Amino acid sequence: QAKEDGRNGFAFYSPALNRHSIERLAFETELQRAFDQGQLQVHYQPKVLAADGRIKGVEALLRWPHPEMGAVSPAKFIPVAEETGLIVPLGRWVLEEACRQQVAWKREGRPDLVMAVNLSARQFSDEALFDDVASIVTATAIDPGNLELEITESMLMRDIERASSLLGRFKRMGLRLAVDDFGTGYSSLANLRRFPIDTLKIDRAFVRDLEGSGEDQAIAQAIITMAKSLGLNVVAEGVETLPQVDFLRDRGCDELQGFYFSKAVPAQELLALLSR
Ligand code: C2E
Ligand code: MG
Ligand code: MG
Ligand code: MG
Repeated sequence: QAKEDGRNGFAFYSPALNRHSIERLAFETELQRAFDQGQLQVHYQPKVLAADGRIKGVEALLRWPHPEMGAVSPAKFIPVAEETGLIVPLGRWVLEEACRQQVAWKREGRPDLVMAVNLSARQFSDEALFDDVASIVTATAIDPGNLELEITESMLMRDIERASSLLGRFKRMGLRLAVDDFGTGYSSLANLRRFPIDTLKIDRAFVRDLEGSGEDQAIAQAIITMAKSLGLNVVAEGVETLPQVDFLRDRGCDELQGFYFSKAVPAQELLALLSR
């Protein structure tokens, strides 16, 4: 009997694994359905200038309010969308939605906000990415200088030649480029010099325990100092407390993003934050 022989291939089809793959398939189907039926939303989290607290830009973040499951975290569904490939059409949709919103705010007389949009690895390696971005920029008429793409270190380091050529093309289009979650990957700032980057985002991991950890203070300080010496704009993510705000501002961090200021909110709610 297959079940009793651990070396038999059939033994892999244990009830537990089976249940897992069925649940997984159901989740993938549910995500696809939610996207098709327009249930996914884009929210916007402000990035404020450390110097005076004014909102300089926003980061577009996907939200999935599920009728039964509640809010499903992007940390859960983005990796699934990556694996199934749904992230490509989904990412295109987020980009278009975010660009339209940026232009709408501008038309309403709001200050020119920099709109940041995340790209994931699968999107970044998609051959059609450049053309997709170019056609969305044209279709929405967003000023390319107001659009920033957030890319992680690992995406840059996977294929350095390709990444630097792609980033060069984006740069010539006039877009802004940011390295997200900086400090968690394997790249060094020296490596980053090879890319036409505008902004460095210090990962939340170094901000979280800033108050209690001398090590994290040293890391945050070092990232800020080196980024500044390379002429990069520095943003800290995950800022939750006033002491974190003070520390980062005093060390020369340009922009702050985190729950201390606001979580990601629907477009209408951002207007209230802007006039505050
Ligand atoms: P990320 O790009 O690093 O986005 C920042 C994450 O930190 C967001 O999580 C945001 O809600 C969270 N955050 C911001 N401030 C604070 C804070 O003060 N405290 C804490 N604890 N968290 C804070 P979120 O929205 O859950 O997104 C997680 C990740 O999912 C993002 O990390 C990004 O990698 C990915 N993601 C989200 N939306 C998109 C999207 O439209 N496209 C792609 N490709 N990825 C996305
Ligand atoms: Mg990001
Ligand atoms: Mg980040
Ligand atoms: Mg992240």
